[in-house]
Formats: sequence, structure tokens, C-alpha cells
Amino acid sequence: MKKVIVIGTGVGGAAVSALLAQKGFSVTVFERSDFEGGKAASYERDGFVCDMGVHFTARGSNGPLGEVARLVDADLRFCEPDPVMRIVTPSRSYDFSPHLLRPLSLVKQALIAGVKAWNLPGALRLFRQIVNISRERDATVHDSVSMRDFLLRYTGDEGIHRLVNIFSGLMFVIPLEDASAGEYLWSFVGMARTGSLGYPIGGFGQIARSYLRACERNGGEVHLKEGARSIRVENGKVVGVETEKGFYEADLVVSNVGIRKTIAMAGEDCFPASYTADAKKLRDSLGAVTVKYALDRRPFDIPILVYMPEDMDWSRNMEMMSRGEAPEDIPIFLPCPTNCDPSLAPPGKHVLLAGTAVPADLSASDMADTILDRMERRIPKLLPGIEKHILWKHRTNLSYIDGMGGRGAGEVIGLAQSYDQVGENKPDPRTPVEGLYLVGCDAGGRGIGTEQAADSALKVREMILSETQTPEMVVAEAQVPR
Ligand SMILES: Cc1cc2nc3c(=O)[nH]c(=O)nc-3n(C[C@H](O)[C@H](O)[C@H](O)COP(=O)(O)OP(=O)(O)OC[C@H]3O[C@@H](n4cnc5c(N)ncnc54)[C@H](O)[C@@H]3O)c2cc1C
Repeated sequence: MKKVIVIGTGVGGAAVSALLAQKGFSVTVFERSDFEGGKAASYERDGFVCDMGVHFTARGSNGPLGEVARLVDADLRFCEPDPVMRIVTPSRSYDFSPHLLRPLSLVKQALIAGVKAWNLPGALRLFRQIVNISRERDATVHDSVSMRDFLLRYTGDEGIHRLVNIFSGLMFVIPLEDASAGEYLWSFVGMARTGSLGYPIGGFGQIARSYLRACERNGGEVHLKEGARSIRVENGKVVGVETEKGFYEADLVVSNVGIRKTIAMAGEDCFPASYTADAKKLRDSLGAVTVKYALDRRPFDIPILVYMPEDMDWSRNMEMMSRGEAPEDIPIFLPCPTNCDPSLAPPGKHVLLAGTAVPADLSASDMADTILDRMERRIPKLLPGIEKHILWKHRTNLSYIDGMGGRGAGEVIGLAQSYDQVGENKPDPRTPVEGLYLVGCDAGGRGIGTEQAADSALKVREMILSETQTPEMVVAEAQVPR
């Protein structure tokens, strides 16, 4: 039986651990933290279960998270509400069904964007193009084009650009000048067509937890609070992992700690110089600041509220922040998980999460603190009287995300899904070191946040199976009754 070590229990690491254990590999997982889930973990305080991030899944049970769960028989279910989202601007408010490609939804999106009458024909051609995407290839052919340049082929309408920019922030946490059109179209259409924007029952931490329990049921071992120190490579082949407690042999190592940290843990001299140089040039997504509120009343009646300042240019906001200036008004993503799963709080009580994007660089923390203040000042204006119902709150800055992911930054996603870093330009899960693979948002997958990590795990599983299964194993598997 091949021995596999997985480093890290982010969604990618947890998913691949379960998938490989289910296929009969001997899997051992090492996690440096005392909790599972990386950037998609949850914690409990006074009977409230809060996500450490601020999350919703794009395709719930119909996306890769659900697919992994079905393959490994994990205890993971999603609430998939309809309507799911309210977009609020200072002058308007619209509720959206998750079926964002329905004609009425598209018209609403155009209205909320405040599209100018004379730009309507271009906007409609754009919508038609989006609706007609039916195969992955229809979208990914635009991988190397920025979403902004893609939009300009149809319309320069400022309102449409603003709205598409907000979705770029929600999906990839990068502005549309950087976002890959292929990745954007594929992810948006997948989310809008499945209509299953969802929330995992039990909180986001349940995703990794359910996968790791499935891994253990198939004989895998999970070691929390045992960080990997180095990856040992001999004659170009991985041979094991050194942790804080000792050395463990392995035939294969799958690393969920990001490409740059993986290279550092194995030693740069194990890789061709060009591989290391390319990895150093890769950029991460932006970061985020968040506030978690425990409330004694329901804040609103829908699962997600998105606040969009009127006429706001998100790219300009981000440029200001990169110069250390905090813009006055900022978009806010506000999921209320208890509107999906009431068991996350004591009866009648609620969890409200709020988050907004800031640069991921930890040196931006002072400015990010000002943004946190501004977000907290805006929320009572959106939800009058809410201050009187706050039982406790928890503000988190960039270092909190670093504490979850451990990459030395406050990045929300992992590598930025920019037009020069997706598809063929995304790192392959197979590294130049034999037996060493990458998993998670740095390698191989597509999609939004946690779903990208799960998609990457599915790809790594296929690669490992095709590279290690003998013809006898394939025959034996085919004979298993289903
Ligand atoms: C504020 C916020 C909001 C978000 N909103 C959404 C959303 O709405 N929808 C969505 O789908 N996604 C969202 N995401 C993004 C999503 O959480 C991440 O993209 C995804 O969870 C990343 O998974 P990953 O597998 O790449 O690994 P990570 O989560 O980065 O996990 C890496 C793991 O490796 C571990 N590790 C690091 N070093 C070592 C070591 N030396 N030894 C052992 N273990 C180590 C870490 O502790 C961690 O557990 C959000 C994230 C944040 C922070």
C-alpha cells in the first residue's frame, strides 16, 4: 500500500486526504494548527458557531465540494436557499434568486448597475454571450484576457463595469483589470446555472472536518498541532516529511501549504532554477478584514446581504488602499449563516459575518484597521438599531488570516486568478520532484475559493491514480460491486 503524507488541512488538503484514503492509500495528515480547515475553519464561542472567514459556497452540493463528499461518503450537506442575496445601494435594494442567468435576474442586474439606455444593446449582447456558455472551453478560451478587456468588447458602460467588478471582488477578491475573463465566465456561469449558492450545515469548518472524518474511517491518521518542518528529497524523489515530532517516510507527499512554502520546505536546490523563479513571481489574491457579530435578533431575512456604495469604483478604492489611504465608503459582504442553519446559535439568536477586501500584505494592517472602523460605522446605517442587539463581536485583521493559512500574508483565496495565472499558466499539481504534489488554491483547480481547492483535490486524485495504479488494481476496482 503506497504511503501518502498530506501537509495541511485546508479544504484542498482535507479533500485529497479523504479521496486517497478512500482509494486504499495509507494516508497521514499533518496540520500545524490545533484546528482543521485552514482558511475555511469555524470556531465556537458561547454557543455560537462562527466561520473564521466570511463565506458562502458558489455551487453547494452541485459543485466540487459536494462531489468530493459523495465520493468519500462525507457527512456534508448544504442549505441552498432561494432567494439568496440582497444587493443594497444607498438608493436601491434588490433580492436575487441564485439562478442568476434567468432573464429577470439579468434585467435586475442591468437595472442595479444603472445601465445607460444607449448602452443597453451592448449589455444585452454581453448577457447573450454569457448565457450561451455551455462548455468549459467556451469560457476558458478567454483565460488570458482580462475581464475588463473582455467587457470592453461589448460595452464601456460604467454601471456594468462597476457591477462586474463587485462580482470579481466577491468571487476572486481581485479587481476586474486583473481577473481572468475565462476564469470569471466559467465560475460565474457555473454558479448562476446550478442555482445552488449554498451554506454547509454546521458551518464552513464542517467541510474539512467531514472530509477528514471520512479519511479516518478509511484508515487515515490526522495529526493536529504537528506542523511539517521540511520535505525530504533524495535523488530527485520525495522520501518523507520531517515534522516537529520526528521523521515520517512516504512514497508520495501532497502539500497544501502553497507553492512557495512547499519549495522552501523541500529546499530550492531540489527544483530547476526556472521553476523557483517563476513561483516567486506569482501573486496572491487580496486580503480581507472581518467582523463577526453574535446577535440576539435576526439582522435581516435573507442569507446574504451585499452593500454596494453608489458609483463606487472598486479598482480605484484598491489603488488608494495600496498607497496606504483608506477610502470612505467600501462594499461589504454580510452573510447571516443562521438564516440557513439556525443550529449555529442558541434559539432565537443569530450570527452575522461582515467582510471587505484590503491588500493582503501584513504591513497594510494599520490602514486595514481604519477600514474595519468604517465598515463598523456603515453596518448600523444598513441595519438600524442593530447596535443594541450585539451580544459580542470579534474583529479580525490580516494577521488573523495568516494564522489560518500560514503563508505569511492575509490573502483570502490563495494565488490570484489573474489572466496570467490561470489555466495553462497555473502551477501544475505535479512538481518537478518525483512524488511531490501541490493541492489547494495554488494548483490545478478552477472556481471560487473553497470550490477551487476541492476541484484541485479531485485533479490530484486523478493524477495520482493514473501514475500509481497498476493494471491489477484497475481490474480489482472494476470488480467491486457498487
Ligand atoms: C475572509 C475570507 C472570506 C472567504 N470567503 C469565501 C467564500 O465566500 N466562499 C469560498 O468558497 N471561499 C471563501 N474564502 C476562500 C477560501 O476559504 C480559501 O480559498 C480556501 O479555503 C483555501 O483552501 P486551501 O486548500 O488552498 O488551503 P488553506 O486554507 O490555505 O490551508 C492551508 C493549510 O495548511 C496548513 N499549514 C501551513 N503550513 C503548514 C505546515 N508547515 N505544516 C502543516 N500544516 C501547515 C495551514 O495551517 C492550513 O490549514 C474566504 C477566505 C477568507 C479568509
